[in-house]
Amino acid sequence: MSEENKEKGKKQEYEFQAEMSQLLNLITHSLYTHREIFLRELISNASDALNKLHFLSLTDQKILGNDGELKINIKLDEKEKTFSIEDNGIGMTEEELISNIGTIASSGTGKFFSNLTGDNKKDLELIGQFGVGFYAVFMVADEVTVDTKSYSSDQGYRWVSSGSGSYTIEAIDKPERGTTISFKFKTDAEEFASKWRIESTIKKYSDFVSFPISLNEEKANKSTALWARPKSDVKDEEYVEFFKYIANSTEEPLAHLHLSVEAPVQFKAIMYIPKTADRFLFSQDLDTKIHLYVKRIFIQNDCKELIPQWLRFVKGIVDSEDLDLNISREVTQKNVVMDKINKYLVRKLLGEFKEWSEKDVEKYNGFWKDFGSFIKEGIHMDFANREKLIEMYRCYSSFDPEKLTSLKDYVDRMGTDQEEIYYVFGKDKETIVNSPNIEYFKKNNIEVLYLYDEIDDFIMPSIGTYKEKNLVGIDKADLKLKKEKDEDKKETLSKTAKKKLLGYFKDILGDRVGDVIESERLVDSACTLVSPKDGMNANMERMMKMMDQNFKAGKKVMEVNLQNPLIQNLSKIQEKFPQDALLKECIEQLFEGACLLEGSLESPSKMVPRSTSLMEKAADYYLKSLETK
Ligand code: ADP
Repeated sequence: MSEENKEKGKKQEYEFQAEMSQLLNLITHSLYTHREIFLRELISNASDALNKLHFLSLTDQKILGNDGELKINIKLDEKEKTFSIEDNGIGMTEEELISNIGTIASSGTGKFFSNLTGDNKKDLELIGQFGVGFYAVFMVADEVTVDTKSYSSDQGYRWVSSGSGSYTIEAIDKPERGTTISFKFKTDAEEFASKWRIESTIKKYSDFVSFPISLNEEKANKSTALWARPKSDVKDEEYVEFFKYIANSTEEPLAHLHLSVEAPVQFKAIMYIPKTADRFLFSQDLDTKIHLYVKRIFIQNDCKELIPQWLRFVKGIVDSEDLDLNISREVTQKNVVMDKINKYLVRKLLGEFKEWSEKDVEKYNGFWKDFGSFIKEGIHMDFANREKLIEMYRCYSSFDPEKLTSLKDYVDRMGTDQEEIYYVFGKDKETIVNSPNIEYFKKNNIEVLYLYDEIDDFIMPSIGTYKEKNLVGIDKADLKLKKEKDEDKKETLSKTAKKKLLGYFKDILGDRVGDVIESERLVDSACTLVSPKDGMNANMERMMKMMDQNFKAGKKVMEVNLQNPLIQNLSKIQEKFPQDALLKECIEQLFEGACLLEGSLESPSKMVPRSTSLMEKAADYYLKSLETK
């Protein structure tokens, strides 16, 4: 802080970060529906500021001073069209003013930009989720003043900006701790300068804020703890509104659980399962969204210890009777009561999901589409609940490629002599159905699970076995397939011819393959690439390559179908003209074709001219054969 700036009346001008100007421009100009959310954002910031102060006061009562009644006061002058919202919360120092509302402080805002969709409704939802909430005020005001004094300082500051390129900060006299944000509604937002409008907006979005909100000295919110009321008293709309409030969402939830538990610990909770997963949920480091209260007093947002990480899509609150009000962050980390609540919540949620899967398959499948990846994460991470989570696993399969199936249903359908559960990974149905590796299974009517989600590649080996059946990827080389009955066997090559031909494949392909072997799985295709027993499969390798450019894929095993007419002809050519160029060209082409199919061909630069040259030859012979007819 510069010395002269400390002098009262001296304004210091600051430029907004470039991104910030861009953001403000977006907010003021394009996000023009639902402008009333400016109020929700301001109230939620005020309530956060009060919560933070309250939390600090749990360990240091002095912080509250003689201003211990934490509250939010809103003043509206319908005639002058002016508005102000005041809280006696934590306040901000000059540095905090600059970093909190002058710069894009959180990495979240950067993400906000990359996630903008151009769809106003969705972008508005993003505003809440990314913490660019304060700036929503510029949808309704041309100039905004923030007066603030931190609980930790004697000096107050005024921040003023018209939301374009810059803002000013000056030192001011401000006797009380906390923040007041004031402005005049801009001409086209004067509809909000109505007591009725503000009142109903508070009702709609902020009725549950746990601090009292007054509007022109009158109480404007109920601030009753919804979770403390008996279930039968709470209307559906109230649950929905509470969800929107705590989840910062405009969507209705998929479902909720309202719990009132006496044993093993005493607590009340409302858990919400959203309808859709927002994209940021997928980052592993995201906090869970369960807020902790003790005896109806707010303790902490996003309390990690209340629910396992993989359930981070669940939002809600827990209010415990058995925790101490002075509970601090350190204590919450290793606390028996928290641990019991955690276990109870997981059990209840899993029970709920299971019930959907049995009684309302459509609901369950919808849930699975959005939140399946979290269940998979759970399978991998949550050892205690693994068995239950595995039962919840769903994927598509060759039984009905349009329908999700469970592992249990797969096993129930298995033939008595089938000993393993087969799966294949591919980027879509088309790729899987056309993969040479699946031919044997199609022909023999063996069901194969179709996996499209990359995480499945980790999950299948992680599940390992289900009902004593091993889960086996069909592109692994040591696949033990039942030998076909002798009468079904087509003619193949003699032992020597086979040895010679496969040997030649190996000579030509050199160290591009680990081995070349006779295939038992191919029915029509000439050849395919499979992973060696302990190697990664094609998908896993693709992922590794994406993460690490220098990653060297392991060598594949080439399987050759000795019953295929092309392969048999190649053997005949080899017999008579061992050094023939066509033989070599065909082997190269077969190899690169197989690479292309599994998505590992690095460049088509040799393949395309080679295929043209092969077609030239084919056309030449074909023409001759036509002419001799
Ligand atoms: P978010 O609240 O999601 O973090 P905002 O843009 O709404 O994002 O606010 C940015 C930051 O400004 C807040 O995180 C907080 O640190 C600070 N802030 C905003 N309003 C207040 C307030 N009334 N009292 C104290 N700090 C505030």
